[in-house]
Amino acid sequence: MSEVTKIKGIGDEKAASLSSIGINSVSDLLEYFPFRYEDYELKDLADVKHEERATLEGKVHSEPVVRYYGKKKSRLSVRLLVGRFLITAVFFNRAFLKKQFSLGQTVTVTGKWDQHKMTLSASEIAFASHDPEGTIEPVYPVGGDITVKAIKRYIQLALQQFANEIEESLPPQMLERYKLMDKREAVQTMHAPQSHDHLKQARRRFVYEELLQFQLKMQLFRKRERENTKGSSHVYKRSDLDEFISSLPFPLTGAQDRVVEEILKDMESPYRMNRLLQGDVGSGKTVVAAIALYATYLSGNQGALMVPTEILAEQHFESFEDLVGNTLNVELLTGSVKGKKRRELLERLATSEVDLLIGTHALIQDEVVFKHLGLVITDEQHRFGVKQRRVLKEKGLTPDVLYMTATPIPRTLAISVFGDMDVSTIDEMPAGRKPIETYWAKPDMLSRVLDFVTKELDQGRQGYVICPLIEESEKLDVQNAIDVHAQMQTALPHYQVGLMHGRLTSDEKEAIMEAYSQNDVQLLVSTTVVEVGVNVPNATIMVIYDAERFGLAQLHQLRGRVGRGKDQSYCILLADPKSEVGKERMQIMTESNDGFVLSQRDLELRGPGDFFGRKQSGLPEFKVADLVHDYRVLEVARNDASALVESTAFWEDDAYRRLRTYLMNEGVLSGEKLD
Ligand code: ADP
Ligand code: MG
Repeated sequence: MSEVTKIKGIGDEKAASLSSIGINSVSDLLEYFPFRYEDYELKDLADVKHEERATLEGKVHSEPVVRYYGKKKSRLSVRLLVGRFLITAVFFNRAFLKKQFSLGQTVTVTGKWDQHKMTLSASEIAFASHDPEGTIEPVYPVGGDITVKAIKRYIQLALQQFANEIEESLPPQMLERYKLMDKREAVQTMHAPQSHDHLKQARRRFVYEELLQFQLKMQLFRKRERENTKGSSHVYKRSDLDEFISSLPFPLTGAQDRVVEEILKDMESPYRMNRLLQGDVGSGKTVVAAIALYATYLSGNQGALMVPTEILAEQHFESFEDLVGNTLNVELLTGSVKGKKRRELLERLATSEVDLLIGTHALIQDEVVFKHLGLVITDEQHRFGVKQRRVLKEKGLTPDVLYMTATPIPRTLAISVFGDMDVSTIDEMPAGRKPIETYWAKPDMLSRVLDFVTKELDQGRQGYVICPLIEESEKLDVQNAIDVHAQMQTALPHYQVGLMHGRLTSDEKEAIMEAYSQNDVQLLVSTTVVEVGVNVPNATIMVIYDAERFGLAQLHQLRGRVGRGKDQSYCILLADPKSEVGKERMQIMTESNDGFVLSQRDLELRGPGDFFGRKQSGLPEFKVADLVHDYRVLEVARNDASALVESTAFWEDDAYRRLRTYLMNEGVLSGEKLD
């Protein structure tokens, strides 16, 4: 559509200020949607809940009273008869209103309702009866020298002149299938909703459109990736792999079975696998990784497993020695493998003598050369930067890549952030696990908590005490852990208390972990470095200091260090959260053991930006859609998008022209047809 200056009433000067908030064309202006709405719909007082915002209509029942206090502060209160109720409306610092009230007059007030005091803290008043027009007021984001009033007017002008030119951008099939409001009506409704229901329908239409466009981008990108990057197709005898699987000490769970098949299918295909494997702590991702790596070995390729910390690398090295060490040549490469040992290892890797290399990011250094790198697995992928992942991908030819994570990413986010990836989910725990019992205690209950810990240790069990991470300073962090360690040692004189933190050398860390897994140390005081992967089944109790400082997902990760054996395990959250959200989070932790539930709740409480850490979230921004609430639509859009990019109609029918144009403008589609 044309430039904003085509609108009567908008000249160059106004156009320039509009441009400063990103509005250049008429359609930019028409699609400059409110970010929220004020609801002025009249409420029946009987339906208004405590602390709810409401608009009420009433008759002035008594003269208003103004009281002054402090410097220039005032409180005006007036009695109103609302239906059969006599209420008080109060206005702060608006004493000038006093003159405008007259007895018996009808007024409309909006504000927050206090049920107990029968009082409305009013923020707005109209000295008239309720106006059914403008019941739902749009609120626009503004900036620069554009005011709310101005933007509203410009939009009105644009609608008057150009509403008829609004073209439908979705194909009729889609409008029909989902009973979506057409674009013209939807644009008008967004700016001037007639009712809540109307608004909902308009929103629904834009949510679908935005998410469909977004998913088309993702799916197209993914299709390209698949078609243009040939990976290795792993060829091997399935019976050899089955033999390995049946040699495992336990049968696979149904979910493990399913994800193994998904992964093997990718590996066998000539496309390069790009798959996320997510499963709650303890759901058994390691075996799945072992099976994939075994298949890699059977197909004559090498595998690599990359983990975020040295401790974890060691632990994985041991598990994989147990799982596949009889057949595969497994080696460990970390920063502490140095000198001659390192050189020899690298040589053996280059000649393909090493079948499986496990390590930290040392694995991606330039000097590390594989002969036939067929599969790369990264564990706890959320800890790796995008750059590291890319470097790793570029190693070897075009290895298949599997990312494992125990931070279950709510499906909604997995689809959006990893939209170009396939996702496999282990959503079932191995049989016989006892759910961890979680309690929330205030810090002043520490001595009772310690009694409880002692009881567990007296029964031959082990425990963890987690100190909070002090973001600002690693030094404080370590000092804090040292203090807690000393305190624990005093409180539990009959037990060995170990100390683990980020400042220890890797030899020291290794020694501590070794002592802990041998039960030479019964209680381990640690910073969050034990967060991922550590596996000591005899540990049955965990105390987490300042638990309110952690996110739900992280608490769940930490908690997953216990509950790994047959005995009942416990987790105690020491926390004194001040905010409601903080209290709610502690409560949720005591109620749920399901990582997916927790991460969904975390997402709802924190919002998608905070969930991943604001800066590197890489989440797309939408005008109308909201990833947390609109996830069902996201799923629908994803399915539609993936079907569309594979269909001929999408590439040829005129009905899809607008969508194709969108993709071209976004740079994901060039002028010609894809295939
Ligand atoms: P994750 O890496 O997903 O947190 P692990 O792979 O470390 O979990 O598995 C947790 C524990 O469960 C390990 O001790 C593992 O041996 C055991 N395990 C894995 N799969 C099964 C299964 N199918 N049946 C019984 N135990 C299993
Ligand atoms: Mg694991």
